[in-house]
Formats: sequence, structure tokens, C-alpha cells
Amino acid sequence: MSPPKADVLIIGAGVIGASIAFHLTRHGIKPLLIEKSSPAAGSSGACDGLVFLQSKKPGLHLKLAMESRRRFDGLIDVLGDGIEFKNPGGMCLIESDAELAAMRLFIEEQRRTGLGVELIEGDEARRREPCLSQRVIAATFSALDSQVNPYALTFAFLRTAKSAGARILMGEAVKGIERAAGKTIAVFTDNGRISAPVVVNAAGALAADVGRMAGLEVPITPRRGQILVTAAVPPLIRHCLISAQYVAAKFKPELAERGGMGFSLEQADSGNILIGSTREFVGFDRRTTFAGIRTIASRIVPVIPALQRIPVIRTFGGLRPYTPDGLPILGKVAGLDGFIMAAGHEGDGIALSAITGELIADLIAIGRTRFPLDAFRLERFHEGAA
Ligand SMILES: Cc1cc2nc3c(=O)[nH]c(=O)nc-3n(C[C@H](O)[C@H](O)[C@H](O)COP(=O)(O)OP(=O)(O)OC[C@H]3O[C@@H](n4cnc5c(N)ncnc54)[C@H](O)[C@@H]3O)c2cc1C
Repeated sequence: MSPPKADVLIIGAGVIGASIAFHLTRHGIKPLLIEKSSPAAGSSGACDGLVFLQSKKPGLHLKLAMESRRRFDGLIDVLGDGIEFKNPGGMCLIESDAELAAMRLFIEEQRRTGLGVELIEGDEARRREPCLSQRVIAATFSALDSQVNPYALTFAFLRTAKSAGARILMGEAVKGIERAAGKTIAVFTDNGRISAPVVVNAAGALAADVGRMAGLEVPITPRRGQILVTAAVPPLIRHCLISAQYVAAKFKPELAERGGMGFSLEQADSGNILIGSTREFVGFDRRTTFAGIRTIASRIVPVIPALQRIPVIRTFGGLRPYTPDGLPILGKVAGLDGFIMAAGHEGDGIALSAITGELIADLIAIGRTRFPLDAFRLERFHEGAA
């Protein structure tokens, strides 16, 4: 039996919904989270855990990520070291002169945004990260790049929120949203009606469906990523690693379509190495494909030859919540009081979870945020069309 009412109702118990719930309880608000499956069943349980700053677009996107990264230091004290947060620094690996030229310009913009990034030569990159082959001619390095266990992070947010009074309903899908006089009034699940003056759409790649229930057009579509997981091995990868091509493919979908998608890499505390990932628009199909896995494997081995001798023990696919401009959709929605958007973080939701939870909770609890939300409004997409 669903509870009949909630002060704040959050749809989706991925890392974003979980972080919002956690941050709301810090304001003394006890939200109700509704999850159609189980926590982290969406992208938050099918992704890497990079809290990578260098992969963010210089400007607003990077600023938001830097704010989020800062908050992780404080979060460890509250959530505990079970979230496996660590800060080894990150490298973006450069394999050609063309990439080097592009990355020189890119880091200038990153520095203007306030990120400390250095450009190092291939030999220096190999000194710091001995597993790299001669293929790497240079790298950019940022000391702030970090990683976390995304699954453990989501559960830690939820556990802490729950112990502060948040409620979580699992295995219950929101099927409809009741509105009246320009306000949200309630949601419907198979088990009944739950009245809620504030409803948060944190449904990740399914946020467009939830938007439709509220009469809104939300331009979030799934963008699949496939990942390889190796057997656990002694420490091999010292840093969080991505290739320059990976950054380029993130912002230029046509590049990823042509197979030039690069790679990302991290070694988890367990010793398993996660190697990602494709960027594909294939609807809600989460399956891995032979072609996708082969492309990733064939890209990574020339750069880190030691991987050739380490078995891959599994592969998985996840769906990034993609928006056309690469920025999430956050905050209130014009014409529908009480409906709050918190979705569309594409390949950055783990990194942005800390700041997103704080901003949305502040918006609900005190009506203002420390970081302006104007650029993240849903209406930005419809204003262009008009
Ligand atoms: C291959 C891959 C690699 C990635 N690597 C990184 C990385 O290194 N760093 C990083 O920062 N990000 C990364 N990401 C992105 C990150 O995973 C996502 O941005 C993030 O998990 C999105 O979180 P979310 O809570 O918005 O969505 P989700 O985790 O998908 O959560 C949404 C939840 O809503 C539920 N839901 C949907 N509709 C309803 C409904 N009607 N009723 C009830 N519940 C509903 C779903 O079941 C789901 O559990 C990666 C993603 C992929 C796919």
C-alpha cells in the first residue's frame, strides 16, 4: 500500500534522485522516493565512476563539475569510505599531432574556467603512468580528477537519507501525474494515488516519459555506452585515464557514430579494470554488441599493451540520459508549479551528483541556490524553437 501523501516526491532512485533525497534530509525534509525497479537499476548501476573534470566542456559545464568535485571531499566524511572515492588525478591521452593541437586550445579554455591542467610530454606521461605505450605522444594532467564507486555512492546517499527519515518505495512505477490550476497535485502508481505538492523528475534516461505525464516535452534520449570489465589484478592503472578522442566524441556525436570514440579507463578498489565506452543512439536497447566490445578492446590494447594478457570477465551496457546541448535539465518548470526537473546528465551524472542534489534540495527547501540554474532550465530548448 503506497503512503497517501508526501511533502516532496522524487521519481527515480538513481544517483541523482538519491543525492537529492540525501540533501533534502539535511534541510529537515523527509522525501518519498519512488523507484520502478531497484536503486541504481538505471545508468547509475551501469557506468564508470569517473569524477573527471577534464572531460567537461569549458565554461558552465566545467564550473558545475568543479563545484561538484569540491563537495566530494566533504561527502566522504558523511557517507564513509565505502563509496571508494579516491583522487589519483587524471590524464587525457594524446596520440596524434592533430589531437595535440586541439588539446592545446582545449586546455587554454579549461584554464580560463579555473581548472589547473598541465600539458606533459609522452615520456613524462609514461614516468607517471608506466603502463602507457609509445603511442602516447603527450597527455594533459589535472590533479583534481577522481573516481568513486557509483553503485556504492547511490546506496550510501540512500542509506543516509533513509536513516534521516526519507522513505523509499521500490518496485513501483509512477504511471501518471495529476495537475490542477498550473500545479502538480499527485502521482499515480499501480497501487494508488499519492498526493504531493512537489514532484521531482529524476528518472534519468526515462525522464521524457515522466515529463509527458506532466504534459511537458523533455528532450532527453538514451545514449548507450558499453563497458568491458577485466579480472581483478594488482594495481596497474595509477590514474583515471581518458583519450583525447573520447572528449571529442562526447561533444560531436557524428565522430562517435564513425567509430572514433576513444576510451576511458579506471581501476576499481577491487582490482577490476573498467574500460569504456561506446556512445550510440539505439533507443532503450542496453545490450552489448560484439562490434562495440571489439572496437573498445582494439582501441585500448595498443595504448596499454599489458591489457592484452588480462581476461575480460564481463561486459555491460548502460543508457546515458542525453540532452541536445550536453547540459542537464535542472530546476523549476514554467507554468507548472511544484514540478522540478533533475535529469539529463549524460555521461556526467556521477560526477555531477553531489552538486545536483545540493542545488535541487536548496531550491525546494529555501527557494534559492548557490549556483545559478538559469542556463539549465527546460525552457531553453523551446525558446530556440519559438
Ligand atoms: C557506459 C556509461 C559510462 C558512464 N560513465 C560515467 C562516468 O565515468 N562518470 C560520470 O559522472 N557519469 C558517467 N555516466 C553517466 C551516469 O551513469 C549517469 O549520468 C547517471 O547515472 C544518471 O543518473 P540518474 O539518477 O539521472 O539516472 P538513473 O541512474 O538511470 O536513475 C533513474 C531511475 O529512475 C527510475 N525510473 C524511471 N522512470 C520511472 C518511473 N516512471 N517511476 C519510477 N521510477 C522510474 C529508473 O528505474 C532509474 O532507476 C556513464 C554512463 C554510462 C551509460
